[in-house]
Amino acid sequence: MRETEHLDMDATWLSVLHDLPTAVLRFGSKGLLNCLPSPNNVARWKKSPNPNRQISAKCLICEAPNCTTAHILSNCPAAMDRILGRHNNILTVFTDFVRMSLLTHLSMIGVS
Ligand SMILES: [Zn+2]
Repeated sequence: MRETEHLDMDATWLSVLHDLPTAVLRFGSKGLLNCLPSPNNVARWKKSPNPNRQISAKCLICEAPNCTTAHILSNCPAAMDRILGRHNNILTVFTDFVRMSLLTHLSMIGVS
């Protein structure tokens, strides 16, 4: 491995980030910084996006008392079917990519 090879990999990740739609990048950044309007943040900020709804940190689906972004995206027990489906869809994308990469590589070196 060349001494600067890790910089090439960083450049690849940076190009992936720069190719993301602005809304996706904004959502990801806010999620990483815990700045999305999850119920616990809305309760902490005392600012509801819906003035007709009472401010509460509870999960709207399972009524867990402290609904964080992590709870919504990966821990809500009432949404496990949706979470598992999303997880499996991502794995399908990865396995398809690995399968196509292997087939391309094998054909390039003359193995069929
Ligand atoms: Zn929940």
